[in-house]
Amino acid sequence: MFYFWTKVKRHIKRQRPKVVPADLHRVRVLILNRVEFFNKQLNFKIGRISIRNQRTRWGSCSSKGNLNFNSHLINLPLELLDYVVVHELCHLKQLNHSQDFWLLVEQVLPNFRQLRKQLKTYHIQ
Ligand SMILES: [Zn+2]
Repeated sequence: MFYFWTKVKRHIKRQRPKVVPADLHRVRVLILNRVEFFNKQLNFKIGRISIRNQRTRWGSCSSKGNLNFNSHLINLPLELLDYVVVHELCHLKQLNHSQDFWLLVEQVLPNFRQLRKQLKTYHIQ
């Protein structure tokens, strides 16, 4: 049984999920929608928002206030996509992972610890 599961896991790991252009459009619409939703509460000034096909990060925020999101977010449960959106939005105010940063995240998503843990079980490959 254990062997079986190991094999399945390896098989899944080897697959490279492809994000087709239609999905790219879908993820863009969805992310813009979620950014707008959460920013009603945070009210931060947002620069450009780009969606990229990346391997290593779910999202990032630049010092110029530009947000970058991974197209593979479309494959995650919505609550985890929301966590990534809120995380990057909070970096607009705190470009670090200080206590103040996490307090800000917590204000929007009180269960962020659980979501953060869950997100770590997903790998982009
Ligand atoms: Zn971060």
